[in-house]
Amino acid sequence: MIVKKVLAIGGSDPSGGAGIQADQKTLTEIGVYGYTAVTAVTVQNSRGATSYDVLSSKLLRDQINAILDDGEIQGVKTGMLGNPEHVLDVANLITKNAINYSIIDPVIKASSGKHLVTETTVEAMKEKLLPLGFMVTPNIDEASYLSGIKIESENDLLKAARIIEKTGVQWVLIKGGHIDGDFAVDLLYDGNQDYFFRAKKVRAENVRGTGCMMASAICAYLVKGYDPYESVNRAKTYVRNKISNALLLGKGSLQALHFCMKGDADEDRTD
Ligand code: PLP
Repeated sequence: MIVKKVLAIGGSDPSGGAGIQADQKTLTEIGVYGYTAVTAVTVQNSRGATSYDVLSSKLLRDQINAILDDGEIQGVKTGMLGNPEHVLDVANLITKNAINYSIIDPVIKASSGKHLVTETTVEAMKEKLLPLGFMVTPNIDEASYLSGIKIESENDLLKAARIIEKTGVQWVLIKGGHIDGDFAVDLLYDGNQDYFFRAKKVRAENVRGTGCMMASAICAYLVKGYDPYESVNRAKTYVRNKISNALLLGKGSLQALHFCMKGDADEDRTD
């Protein structure tokens, strides 16, 4: 049995709704081995994040090197990066190890609104990491920040994607779930072709960690051999299921459940 391996790099969320805990559960459920390297420890629960501490760049590098010393990985997924040095550590990891599939979720804030990343870190991501990335997966706020475009319509999605693609990243996926209306519209763009994904919104309540799950699921499907369009398509179905089945486990937002559901994780690509 060949097992594909993905390293998720990001912040720890003790409530498991977002961050590397959500990444690892997603990778596991889709049938990929998930390694994790922690950039920061956040303090949060289903009601939101209250504080965090960032780990040293040395500690992040040591974790990354410990994984790489143990064998090859096929993909990297990044979430919360604690400072510009972390960004450089990830950039070095991608270039030195010729990682084909690097999925960058440019996390800026927790869904509760707390900033998890400083402006200088986002600037470093834009300059040093996006040019090396296979795919970047901003939500509307993150895409607005990265492009300088206020996004209110499908046309704005395209304008923003074109600007973000100029950083050198191969694929841009803007998740338009938060644009007003009954439909969630996402745009995947590679500099030539634009692919719009339209789906009726599943529910109104907030489920935390959907961005983390989406980026991890895309990375998992890519390393399993699906092309970028199909990986996004499958990841959307996966996250949609998570949103539909989410439950109130705490006292705040709904929590996704990662108990293996038939159809998400079972089959591997055979052609
Ligand atoms: N990473 C960490 C550690 C977080 O705490 C959060 C949000 O709380 C995120 C990433 C982003 O979460 P989401 O997937 O909701 O965008």
